[in-house]
Amino acid sequence: MFCSHCGKPMDATARFCPVCGAASQPVVVGPAPFPGQLTRPRYNRMIGGVCAGFALHYGWDLSLVRVVCALLIVLTGVGLIAYLAAWIIIPEAPFVLPQQTGAGSPGSSV
Ligand SMILES: [Zn+2]
Repeated sequence: MFCSHCGKPMDATARFCPVCGAASQPVVVGPAPFPGQLTRPRYNRMIGGVCAGFALHYGWDLSLVRVVCALLIVLTGVGLIAYLAAWIIIPEAPFVLPQQTGAGSPGSSV
């Protein structure tokens, strides 16, 4: 394994290059690695977080999304397949780190 920043060989298990200090892989910090991507949040979920994901992504009312989803499942049966497909296809949102407070973070002067 070689550093993608300086090209020097580095340990495959190392997270940072010993020569230049660059991260060996993208460090995901924050609510979404790709802004605007549809993800299933790790909170506010009942089953798979599919309804919560759609509600958050499109700004819909979460309760309304769940009611419509439940109606689609009960009345048509297609909703169940769609829900399971969405559960598999839509990636989970990354874990959200606690908000940084204090010196160093911009906009923290409250
Ligand atoms: Zn390097």
